[in-house]
Amino acid sequence: MNQEPTCRCGFDRHHPWVVEKPRYSPSKWLAVLTGISVIPKTVVVACDQCGFVFEESDDLERRKRMI
Ligand SMILES: [Zn+2]
Repeated sequence: MNQEPTCRCGFDRHHPWVVEKPRYSPSKWLAVLTGISVIPKTVVVACDQCGFVFEESDDLERRKRMI
């Protein structure tokens, strides 16, 4: 049982559909929508097709790269 986790589509985290995305807290969304750059609360590695989250990180350097 040493298999990589896969999402509902059968992709593992190295698949091109699986991408890093910023996640913002609800209060930050307003700033994002008005075009202000904010550091996301967390960065998730998620499938772009079904939304399955492989990993969630609150590492500051990774979050800054999302701006
Ligand atoms: Zn998927």
